[in-house]
Amino acid sequence: MTPGLTRREREVTDIQEILKILDKSKIIHIGLVDGDEPYVVPMNYGYTYENERLTFYLHCATEGKKLDVIRKNPKVFFSIESDIEPFSGQVACQYGTAYSSVMGKGIAYIHEEAEDKMNFLSLFMKTQTGLDFEFNERLVSAVTLIKIDVTEFTAKHRPKPINA
Ligand SMILES: Cc1cc2nc3c(=O)[nH]c(=O)nc-3n(C[C@H](O)[C@H](O)[C@H](O)COP(=O)(O)OP(=O)(O)OC[C@H]3O[C@@H](n4cnc5c(N)ncnc54)[C@H](O)[C@@H]3O)c2cc1C
Repeated sequence: MTPGLTRREREVTDIQEILKILDKSKIIHIGLVDGDEPYVVPMNYGYTYENERLTFYLHCATEGKKLDVIRKNPKVFFSIESDIEPFSGQVACQYGTAYSSVMGKGIAYIHEEAEDKMNFLSLFMKTQTGLDFEFNERLVSAVTLIKIDVTEFTAKHRPKPINA
């Protein structure tokens, strides 16, 4: 993890709390760099956290813009949020949104091998559903798997104010 949040009091450093955010969210926004233009894609994800390494597993069709961009530049930035709860107050500046979030960067790898795809899809489904699924070569032939090796990440929690 990398320190550096402006609102340090909101930083989440307990890895178990961070993993809870990843378990709840299910949706990741992947930021890519398409030449000199940004490109952001919302996707579902699976993840693993092993030996202090965070890895995401994404699945998609076998062609499309994000794959074209990743092939040219595999650097990604991601943003994930959970526990979204808008709150209100007496005046405009007391309105806000409680949230938990994780952001970071990594390197994306496109996997076309059937065995990789079967393994990664099982990890994807475990995060998405909590269930164990098995895949065969026929089932994975229509999809491409993207693995993201995360190199840095931070997490943040903004609680709902007590009186909101
Ligand atoms: C909550 C959520 C979860 C999703 N989960 C997945 C997932 O797990 N796997 C997956 O492959 N896709 C998922 N999608 C769809 C994903 O966001 C993309 O639409 C899809 O992956 C195609 O991306 P692409 O770069 O190949 O775009 P292309 O199909 O090549 O399209 C290119 C152009 O279409 C437009 N476009 C692409 N996607 C979107 C979009 N979502 N909304 C509006 N305009 C768009 C953009 O202008 C883009 O330049 C999800 C979308 C949402 C909202």
